[in-house]
Amino acid sequence: MLKGIAASAGVSVAKVYKLETPNVVIEKKQGDAEAEIKKFDEALEKTKKDIEGVKERAAKRLSEEELAVFDAHLMMAGDPELASQIKNMIQSESVNAEYATDVVATQMVEMFESMDNEYFKERAADVKDVTFRLKCNLLGLLIPDLTSIDEDSIIVAHDLTPSDTAQLNEYVKGFATEIGGKTSHSAIMANSLEIPAVVGCPGVMDAVKTGDVLALDALDGVVEVNPDEATIQAYQEKAKAYAKEKEELKVLVSEKSVTKDGHEVELAGNIGGFKDVEGVLKNGGEGVGLFRTEFLYMNSDHFPTEDEQFEAYKQVLEGMQGKRVVVRTLDIGGDKHLSYYEFPNEMNPFLGYRAIRLCLKEQDIFRTQLRALCRASVYGRLCIMFPMIATVKEFCDAKAIFEDVKKELISEGVQVADNIEVGMMVEIPAAAVLADQFAKYADFFSIGTNDLIQYSMAADRMSEHVSYLYQPYNPSVLRLIANTIKGAHSQGKWAGMCGAMAGEPNAVPILLGLGLDEFSMSATQILKARKVVKSLSYEEMKDLAQECLNKQTAEEVLEYVQSKVEQ
Ligand code: PEP
Ligand code: MG
Repeated sequence: MLKGIAASAGVSVAKVYKLETPNVVIEKKQGDAEAEIKKFDEALEKTKKDIEGVKERAAKRLSEEELAVFDAHLMMAGDPELASQIKNMIQSESVNAEYATDVVATQMVEMFESMDNEYFKERAADVKDVTFRLKCNLLGLLIPDLTSIDEDSIIVAHDLTPSDTAQLNEYVKGFATEIGGKTSHSAIMANSLEIPAVVGCPGVMDAVKTGDVLALDALDGVVEVNPDEATIQAYQEKAKAYAKEKEELKVLVSEKSVTKDGHEVELAGNIGGFKDVEGVLKNGGEGVGLFRTEFLYMNSDHFPTEDEQFEAYKQVLEGMQGKRVVVRTLDIGGDKHLSYYEFPNEMNPFLGYRAIRLCLKEQDIFRTQLRALCRASVYGRLCIMFPMIATVKEFCDAKAIFEDVKKELISEGVQVADNIEVGMMVEIPAAAVLADQFAKYADFFSIGTNDLIQYSMAADRMSEHVSYLYQPYNPSVLRLIANTIKGAHSQGKWAGMCGAMAGEPNAVPILLGLGLDEFSMSATQILKARKVVKSLSYEEMKDLAQECLNKQTAEEVLEYVQSKVEQ
């Protein structure tokens, strides 16, 4: 049995599909140039066909935007420069095709990587990916093709890249990876596909081979290899119980989120784009508490134009049928890059030039987004929030730009809603501590615990080495949250939360007791949270929350909540 991080809830038992990349060993040989060029042309054709095949199979599940990674690979495979450099080398040095491919690929990768620009770094990744396929084809090595999985399987991998997750089909019943955390790319993808995932599970690759039976318990974050019959049955029972609970929760879809003693809160969903709106509504979401607009930018090869953005926001606002939609302005930087924008080279990008810091400097980018948002505002109930606010001045500067953009549009004769709320993410401890002052200017807060925890504990949220410090229940984190909510309420403003903590069943009682007004989470967590809210008394949770604030450790808090609240 191996321990990992439960990143997407559920339980599965299925055969292992071990994602192993072939070991490519290149030897330099002298060869007949003509024969080697012929071999190269054939391998290149096969490579193009392979990528097309993967794309075609992936297209059954993915949008055009999500398929872009394959287009980039096809473009690279068809690049005449790459082919001619390799052929020239075969010709002039009479070397074997795989050796020439390896040398040219290494040179190209080094050249792109040395350019210190995100766009070229991605091209380097494309060259690596495509030439890896090419070398495997030249050597007759088999490349794993996830789209070809045609029986129920659990994928075990060191990590899953965006192009891997783009290939998952309906036979994939879950995955376990050696690296990653709760908020890594693969975890977010598993949640949106609604398949169980355990990530940050060191040693899992060595423990399995393809064809083994794996029990993946992504409720408790464990995997078990080749369990005995009785254990398999126990996991299957657990999977059934979980599926049954999911089914039972469905009756809560159109119910209000109200405690036993009549205190009502709002349960909303986090989205990355229009395609997630249906999931929020289907799961009884009362609004969108976080629209991460950076995906619009990341899935494009240019800064999305005002019109492109307008369409995207309009679609979401209309889709949510008048329910509140909180749109976060561009939160780029840290680990999120754009192929067409050069970020400065920094020692600590998570503490660097990102999000609102960038938007206040690059005001054209910011104004374009705000114009698009203001234009879309008449199609629903729009709230705008700024990410990574650290000082009151930053918030006021950002808000002033918003006001200016709004005035500009009105003077152009464009209609803008007059009830747009303008708030901020509280995800930097400085903002949480000074919340009462921020609340004089912001219409609302949304607490981003993913970052708030990493900055409070000084623990990189992406690193499994320090994942033990990612402690939502640490009383110091709870006190920052309590102070934020108190600060909002002192000025008659509302406080929500859109970090992963908002959807944790053990956290809901505490947050409720601290007075949180809105909880925004993955769509699939909403109904469970509603069940928890409906089972609690607000008055009792106020006392419970105060007790939690006075504990010393996260473990004590969790134990206390579990002893008081039955789930
Ligand atoms: C957060 O920091 O909690 C948050 C919701 O934002 P993101 O995860 O996109 O950084
Ligand atoms: Mg954040």
